Amino acid sequence: RQVTERKAGQRSTREWQALDAAHHFHPFSDAAALNAQGSRVITHADGVYLWDSDGNKIFDAMSGLWCVNIGYGREELAEAAYRQMRELPFYNTFFKTTHPPVVELSALLAEIAPDGFNHVFYTNSGSEGNDTVIRMVRHYWASLGQPQKKTIISRVNGYHGSTIGGASLGGMTYMHEQGDLPIPGIAHIEQPYWYANGGDLTPEEYGLKAARELEKKILELGVENVAAFIGEPVQGAGGIIIPPTTYWPEIQRICDQYGILLIADEVICGFGRTGHWFGSQYYGIRPHLMTIAKGLSSGYQPIGGVLVHDTVAKVIAESGDFNHGFTYSGHPVACAVAAENLRILKNERIIDKMREDVMPYAHQLWHNAFDDHPLVDDVRTLGFFFAVTLVEDKARRQRFANGGELALRCRDICFQNNLVMRATGDSMISAPPLTMSRAEAREFVGLAKKCLDQLARELGRL
Ligand code: PMP
Repeated sequence: RQVTERKAGQRSTREWQALDAAHHFHPFSDAAALNAQGSRVITHADGVYLWDSDGNKIFDAMSGLWCVNIGYGREELAEAAYRQMRELPFYNTFFKTTHPPVVELSALLAEIAPDGFNHVFYTNSGSEGNDTVIRMVRHYWASLGQPQKKTIISRVNGYHGSTIGGASLGGMTYMHEQGDLPIPGIAHIEQPYWYANGGDLTPEEYGLKAARELEKKILELGVENVAAFIGEPVQGAGGIIIPPTTYWPEIQRICDQYGILLIADEVICGFGRTGHWFGSQYYGIRPHLMTIAKGLSSGYQPIGGVLVHDTVAKVIAESGDFNHGFTYSGHPVACAVAAENLRILKNERIIDKMREDVMPYAHQLWHNAFDDHPLVDDVRTLGFFFAVTLVEDKARRQRFANGGELALRCRDICFQNNLVMRATGDSMISAPPLTMSRAEAREFVGLAKKCLDQLARELGRL
C-alpha cells in the first residue's frame, strides 16, 4: 500500500526543506538551528511506521506526539471524515442547535468513562481543554457563592499545554520565562519524582512526602482560596515520571479532606496508554474533571475536551450561561472521526489485548535490554510508556552534568537509525501505538538498545 516513489509534479526533499525554512515556524523549535539543518519531511504512515520523503521507513515509538493510539492508516477513520464532510462539514452548537456526530460521541464517551462522567465540553486541543478547566472550576465555585476560591495547584515540571492558561498550569520553567507566566491564581508544588528528589527515602515514603506538599500548600494559601488540584496521572512531557504507588491515594485523601476539586489531565494517559481507558482508573482515583485530547481521535483530527463528573455538571447546568466556547467546539468531522476511533478501540478490544499480551512482553524486553546497561538507570515501564535515564554512576544515582546534551545526541542517533524516541532532560522516552505487535515490540526495543549502545560506545562506557 505504501507509495515511496515521487508523484509527478511533487517537490523534492530539498525544495520542501527550503520552503519550510522560508515560511514555517515550528513549535518548540530554535528556528535558526533547525533551518540550518533542514527538517525531515514525513510523507506517509501505516501501523507503527512512518516514511520520509527519501523513502526511509521509520519506527514511530512516540505515536506521533503521544496521540496515534490506534496506529496509522485506519481507513475507517478516513471514511468517517469523508462521509461527514459531505453530509455536514460544519455547524456550531452555540445557539440552540446540535448535530448527530457530537451527540453520538458524547453518548459514547459517557459509556466509556468511569461512573458519574456523563457530560463533556469540547475543545480543539488539550491546551484549550485545560483553559476550559480553569474557567469551569472558577465558575463552579463562584456559582456556589465562593468566587475567591480560585487558585489551582499543579506541579513543577507538569505539562498542561502551551496556551497562556495551559502553560501557567504547567510547571515548565523554560516556558514561564517567555511571556511572564504563570498567570495569577496558579501555585506549583514538587513533582513526585523519586529518582531525582527521593534522597534516602524509599519510593513509598517519598510518595507520601510529595503528596503532602499539596496539603502544605492548601494550608499556606487557605482552603477558602483553593479551587482544585490538577495533575497528569503519569507525567508525560516531563519525562515519563511514574509516581510512587503511595502518591495518588494520598492526593485523593487530601482533596477529599479539604473538599477541593481533583482534576486529572488525561491528555496522554487517556484512551489506553496505561492499559486502561483512563490513567485515573489505573491509579484508582476519583477526579471531578478529566482533560482529554490526543488519543480521543488517535490524532486523526484535532479534538479535545473536558469530561465533567455529575457533581460538577449539576452545578454548571444550574448556573445559567457558561460564557465559554470555541467555533470548533464539537466540530462534526472531528466528532465523527473520534467516535469511529473509540468504536474501533472498544470493538477490537485493543486496550485489553495490549494489557494482556504485548504490554507485559514488551516490559520484559525493555527491562532485559536496560536493567544492566552501563549508561542508564531508573528503567521504567507502565502501560505503553517506556523510559530510561542516562546516568553517570548508577550506584550513587548520579546524573551527568550534561545529561540533556547527551540525551539530544541519543535522539539524533535514534533518528539516524530510523527510530523516533524523544529526549526529555536526561531521559529517553517512548510511547508507541497501542497496536504494536510482539514482533514490532522486538524491533522497537532492539533499535532502542542499538542506539543507547552506540551512545555508550561514544562515551567509552561500552
Ligand atoms: N496536557 C498534557 C498532559 C499533554 O501532554 C499535552 C500535550 N502534550 C497537553 C495537555 C496539551 O495538549 P495540546 O498540545 O493538544 O494543546
